Amino acid sequence: MAVIIDGKALAKKIRSNLKVECDELKKKGITPKLAVIMVGDNPASKVYVRNKSRACNEVGIEYQEYLLDENTRQEDLLNLIKKLNQDETVNGILLQSPVPEHLNINQAFKAITYLKDVDGFTPSSVGKLCIGEDTFVSCTPLGVIKMFEEYNIDLNGKDVVILGRSNIVGRPLIQCCLQKNATVTVCHSRTKSLEEHTKRADVIISAIGQPKFVTADMVKDGVVIIDVGINRDENGKLVGDVDFKNVEKKASYITPVPGGVGPMTIAMLMNNVIKATKEQYNENSTF
Ligand code: NAP
Repeated sequence: MAVIIDGKALAKKIRSNLKVECDELKKKGITPKLAVIMVGDNPASKVYVRNKSRACNEVGIEYQEYLLDENTRQEDLLNLIKKLNQDETVNGILLQSPVPEHLNINQAFKAITYLKDVDGFTPSSVGKLCIGEDTFVSCTPLGVIKMFEEYNIDLNGKDVVILGRSNIVGRPLIQCCLQKNATVTVCHSRTKSLEEHTKRADVIISAIGQPKFVTADMVKDGVVIIDVGINRDENGKLVGDVDFKNVEKKASYITPVPGGVGPMTIAMLMNNVIKATKEQYNENSTF
């Protein structure tokens, strides 16, 4: 039976450590503040945004939400980002995805000033990650790496297979795993014989958004499984990309859904807001 990686407990521990750091900043008269922009009223986004606001509350980060109308124009979205870039009381800016289709989300991400890019989506953050410099790392990949570290799962020389190549999960994960000296393979919807890759993997990180896609016959004994997926099954139950019940029997470590990567993503957002605040007040910062 696998060790279940308890993302919920680890995230709680991280939030409580961050609270100490946040209190120290407050003693110096600095209150970290996160601004969250949401366009339209996507139900899943509402849940994510609520969870982020709760986490801010727990850590002591001030939280301000900007709810924009479904029909908001690109220009108005960009103007709001510009205003928040200039607002010295705001330390982190997050644009909740998805946005309505008429908006250009990449252009909006690019408008966020680098030092407030707590989601790690701007080209500056992504570029720095690629050349191995300290920067804001996108929250889900950073959460996955923290899990490896906490559970002493060494990626050095391991065959890591990442399922999914999105800008927010799969792609930054490639860099994070390379930095840990893993041999990285990335699979996506055009990959031929995906099972050939998963069957030889020491570690599988799945972020494709397909319920129970990774089955026991696709993995080897002792594999480490990180399930990023958040999906609903045929009964409306929250499930990951992995057939947990059967894969657990073969794995050495596995993350559950819910209670695995999800809480870690939010804890890492809190981490990045504190990091951003410190860098903004550090006169010697080379960040
Ligand atoms: P996304 O942008 O839709 O990307 C999905 C990726 O999976 C794409 O690269 C796609 O390939 C690939 N893919 C889809 N179906 C596939 C298949 N049958 N075989 C192989 N590859 C396939 O998704 P995302 O935003 O990265 O999110 C992925 C999942 O993670 C979703 O369930 C999402 O809800 C979840 N998520 C969870 C967290 C968390 O905190 N736990 C955070 C973010 C996302 P192509 O590129 O070829 O289209």
